[in-house]
Amino acid sequence: MHLTLNVQKNFPGFHLAADVSLSGDRVGVFGPSGSGKSTLVGMLAGFLKPDAGEILLNGDTLFSTSRKINVRPDQRRIAMVFQQHSLFPHMNVRNNLLYGYRRCQVDQRSIHLDTLVAVLQLDDLLERDITTLSGGQQQRVSLGRAILANPRLLLMDEPLSALDDTLRFQIIPYLKSVSSEFGIPYLFISHSLVEMRLMTDTVLAFDKGAMVGQTTSEQLARDRMGSSQVGYINLLNLGRASDNGSLYAYPWGAARLLLSAASDRDHSMAELSSKDIILFKQHPEAISARNLLQCTVRSLFNTGRRIGVELDCAGNTLISEVVQDAVNELGIIPGSTVFAAVKASAFRILPG
Ligand code: ADP
Ligand code: MG
Repeated sequence: MHLTLNVQKNFPGFHLAADVSLSGDRVGVFGPSGSGKSTLVGMLAGFLKPDAGEILLNGDTLFSTSRKINVRPDQRRIAMVFQQHSLFPHMNVRNNLLYGYRRCQVDQRSIHLDTLVAVLQLDDLLERDITTLSGGQQQRVSLGRAILANPRLLLMDEPLSALDDTLRFQIIPYLKSVSSEFGIPYLFISHSLVEMRLMTDTVLAFDKGAMVGQTTSEQLARDRMGSSQVGYINLLNLGRASDNGSLYAYPWGAARLLLSAASDRDHSMAELSSKDIILFKQHPEAISARNLLQCTVRSLFNTGRRIGVELDCAGNTLISEVVQDAVNELGIIPGSTVFAAVKASAFRILPG
């Protein structure tokens, strides 16, 4: 998708201004609550009229003050998924899904109910009443209805915020399927950096109604490390665990990690904060941390009062966070060898 957004919108005490042109199929809109994210998507969808500006999607003008164009929401071919589902409670799952399908013009119906039901695993739910579904199931049906309308762009406005942690991570693969399985570009709105990294490539960062950056989700997470209480969250792809006495051993690329948490899945993802990695210049003689990894320093970066150290650990990447004094004392420069110590309990296996 190619999107050009040059819009302004005023509310009492709030001014939003965005001027951006971007290409990409997995785009994020990131910012704290009240920064104008929903206002922005409302203008894209056509529910909200900009005070001035222009919106172009794939070369088509959706809105233009100078050319007096304001395409109606139902003619923009932009679908939305919200934090709270907007399903019809008087229809069962099948009919809610078919509502999306019927909204799609006949010649554009390239996605069919059977395929959608298979990808989103909705088979067992088709005849159920909406009111009998769990929050996560309702969100999957909302997503399905939006996909069946075969939009040119799908807007997801904090679709995970109302769900608990376990459900959030279970639903992410379904949300990603919008692009990977159905080829529909999306704009994903969230204030979570981890969600941004799992869902998007390009990110527009907003603060107080102003666009403060256009970057990659990875770069955004690194930039925010120094100001974030949880630091930079490393996301590690782990293989199948084996029992190791009181701990569990997981393959991590060519390396092996000991974790206190169990998982019975073939693949798991674990979080590890940059703050939980301690660096040593030499191999320490005795240490209680159960993981001691020999790493090569790839690069250093500055964020706030912290230095991020990007490490290569047997081909895997890890970001550790230190202060400048530590960099000086340990002589950390690109190419140097360090030992990274991590406690088994510092990893958190993401629910999946
Ligand atoms: P976000 O989605 O990032 O949390 P919003 O776009 O919902 O932020 O809101 C941005 C600001 O605009 C807030 O201060 C909000 O109070 C204000 N706002 C949003 N919609 C309206 C409206 N219809 N009328 C007046 N103020 C509004
Ligand atoms: Mg919002």
